[in-house]
Amino acid sequence: MGNIDIKSMNMAELIDFVERMGEKKFRAKQLYEWMHLKQAASFDEMSNLPAKFRERLKEECYFCVLHAAEILSSELDGTKKYLFELSDGNIIESVLMRYKFGNSVCISSQVGCRMGCKFCASTIDGVVRGLTAAEMLEQIYRIGKDIGERISHVVIMGSGEPLDNFDNFVRFIELLTNTDGLNLGQRNITVSTCGIVPKMRELADMKLQINLALSLHASSQEKRLKLMPVANKYALDEVLDACRYYFEQTGRRITFEYSLVAGVNDRDEDARELIDLVSKMNCHINLIPVNPISERDFKSPDNGAVVAFKNKLEKNNINVTIRREMGRDINGACGQLRRRYLKGVNS
Ligand code: SAH
Repeated sequence: MGNIDIKSMNMAELIDFVERMGEKKFRAKQLYEWMHLKQAASFDEMSNLPAKFRERLKEECYFCVLHAAEILSSELDGTKKYLFELSDGNIIESVLMRYKFGNSVCISSQVGCRMGCKFCASTIDGVVRGLTAAEMLEQIYRIGKDIGERISHVVIMGSGEPLDNFDNFVRFIELLTNTDGLNLGQRNITVSTCGIVPKMRELADMKLQINLALSLHASSQEKRLKLMPVANKYALDEVLDACRYYFEQTGRRITFEYSLVAGVNDRDEDARELIDLVSKMNCHINLIPVNPISERDFKSPDNGAVVAFKNKLEKNNINVTIRREMGRDINGACGQLRRRYLKGVNS
């Protein structure tokens, strides 16, 4: 096996690659379809490619395929959590959620994360590396194959900060939405960021139709700093300006994620401040009762307090939803499943 990452190539690169191998251009399209439409698990499956060509591909290329190390299925709502092993032995997690509108997959964008958000399990041991475009796609392809159904929605809200892996992330979006591949609609894709301002602006300038979710989690710069170290680098007003810019460039309404932590950001004054902060924006707030992790002492407000917080926002005409907890019986916040698995393997 060589090291050319063929599954991360776009069509232009693939054409160039096959032509340099002395093959006709149409072979690139065949290859592309095998990889991204039929989602073949090996070159051997590519029956309309000459055997000799397949052998050369095997020698020169790395063919990225993820293998599920573990799959957990919820008895409650059909949610499935997957732990995938990468070719270098790293483990990542992905989640399938079944809704009336279709099948949605939540993918990881990095192995670990270096953003340091206080309540998040993914970041505890820092980042190992960013995922390649192929590794991001493969999470979706293998889950689609596992359930034998089309994946219609993708959220980049698993472990990692996608905008900290920007080039691979952009390539991933290009391949995911390509009409010769899975052909996902841009509006069915949501990327979540902790607020890497220059990259939010760069993404806005691309004028795509993908949805942007910002992890807000606090109603002032001072409070946000206590939860999210990234606020040291990009202040809240800059981040909100970048959100407004994204909306101007794309017309897509911004989602703010707000993980509610008891006694930290769920008080009356937090709600009031939050209302002032966002009331002039075309946005939607997604409240996430914090999922407690064993390494930290954060608690979720009780159900009544979460609903009360929501009502306060609603009374001020803010679009707000409480994130439905999926797969409660196989639960594990962002990155927890992977941590548990790694601990098990190492002990
Ligand atoms: N790096 C991206 C994606 C992270 S995960 C980002 O920061 O947006 C998606 C969301 O889950 C983020 O809003 C993140 O802050 C939140 N999150 C992570 N761990 C959580 C936990 N234990 N409880 C509640 N929300 C959590």
